Amino acid sequence: MAAAVFDKLALIGAGLIGSSIARAAAETGAAAEISVWDRDPVVREAADELGLGQVTPDLQGAVTGADCVILCVPVGAIGAVTQAVADDLAPGAILTDVGSVKTVAASAMAEHAPGAIHVIPGHPIAGTEASGPAAGFASLFKGAWHILTPLASETEKPGHRDAVKTLTAFWERLGARVETMAAERHDRVLAITSHLPHLIAFNIVSTAYDMERIDEQEVVKYSAGGFRDFTRIAASDPTMWRDVFLTNKAAVLETLGRFSEDLAALQRAIRWDDGDMLYEAFSRARGIRQAIIDAGMDRSEVNFGRDQRPDADLNSPIDPNRDA
Ligand code: NAP
Repeated sequence: MAAAVFDKLALIGAGLIGSSIARAAAETGAAAEISVWDRDPVVREAADELGLGQVTPDLQGAVTGADCVILCVPVGAIGAVTQAVADDLAPGAILTDVGSVKTVAASAMAEHAPGAIHVIPGHPIAGTEASGPAAGFASLFKGAWHILTPLASETEKPGHRDAVKTLTAFWERLGARVETMAAERHDRVLAITSHLPHLIAFNIVSTAYDMERIDEQEVVKYSAGGFRDFTRIAASDPTMWRDVFLTNKAAVLETLGRFSEDLAALQRAIRWDDGDMLYEAFSRARGIRQAIIDAGMDRSEVNFGRDQRPDADLNSPIDPNRDA
């Protein structure tokens, strides 16, 4: 096995992403030693049983001596956690995160981290709707993009370019494809590709639930008509998504404005029997689905490859869908 990228990797938060990094780093030998901290004793016990690394209740101890610390907590918690570990970070260490919104996560880390630390915000474009340490798996990042949003204020620090290269090598070892971009651009792109789809899913599920004339049983019974695919996304962690919308407010509201205008245009086309407009809009959308398949970002099988025979085993494993 190739030499470890990091001597000691500290993972703060043993949820879906933290536990997946632990598994992938152990499997690929990307870190010689892995320490894991979680605030919840029950989660720590589970992480210990799963063999995710050296699990500890001591946050400061977890980061002491680590050459890389990855914050795997909701975006709204990144500032407080950085503040709590700031005095114990080793000079020259890399401090990164996996938060789904980058401008706020980056400034929260930069504000509290000491000068001798390399702050390199990051976001894996990979995930599922599940949470917690048992939900993670080593192959989560394979073939997925990992976006780094280095800070302009850090570039003058000696060794910063090398630190970005090292962190890139780490994520590549886990199987990811690494891209670098400005945090603001990341947040605008993710607002449309991830945040808005989640908002729509949360909304459609609660609208269906609230509609008095459809009783709940019918919603569930006929969910294969499209609704169930929204319910998968809407099952995502409420804390994580609350923080995403509160911290990417401007980009989400701008995207939502555009979306509402386009939705109103479709509404108008339906009202005025404008079949040409509807056909054109749906054809364009179909083409975008094909482009995603062609880019290798989703499976090509119809209906995500679900076995649709009446006696199909619905629990048979399929590749987890990638979110973010
Ligand atoms: P998760 O499975 O729910 O795990 C969240 C972790 O954060 C848990 O360890 C939780 O602790 C901890 N946490 C929550 N609030 C905290 C606080 N105030 N202080 C300290 N720790 C706290 O969530 P996840 O999916 O791994 O998400 C973690 C990060 O990854 C988030 O920033 C999210 O935006 C990002 N992300 C998620 C996905 C995805 O698809 N899920 C994809 C890409 C990036 P407890 O054990 O006490 O709950």
